[in-house]
Amino acid sequence: MKPPYCFLCHRDFHLDKGGDLVRFADYVPLAEGMIGHPSGSEWFCPEHLSAATALAFKTSSEALHDLQREYGEFPPLPFFGLGPHREPTVLFVGALMHKIVGIVRKITGRSPPKDK
Ligand SMILES: [Zn+2]
Repeated sequence: MKPPYCFLCHRDFHLDKGGDLVRFADYVPLAEGMIGHPSGSEWFCPEHLSAATALAFKTSSEALHDLQREYGEFPPLPFFGLGPHREPTVLFVGALMHKIVGIVRKITGRSPPKDK
């Protein structure tokens, strides 16, 4: 399941404050035993939930299009994690460095200076 960021405004909201999941006409439940987010269902913050629910008879992309015409487009969600053009995070591990390098060398077979 996706975390509760509003499908329209991308705001991170807490479910106890009134936002909810809306199932649109293109909703397809996950098969039994599958883990993930069912297509055609999207989170909406308290501010946009009623407008989104009123459009639940449409597909999620049609509803998003209509909502964007009414409320405008919002900045995209910030990117989380490493992408193809991002540098890895530098960690300061102090006295554990020799143990970490040993584990990495055991796994990768590379020499310690490269791994550091
Ligand atoms: Zn919203």
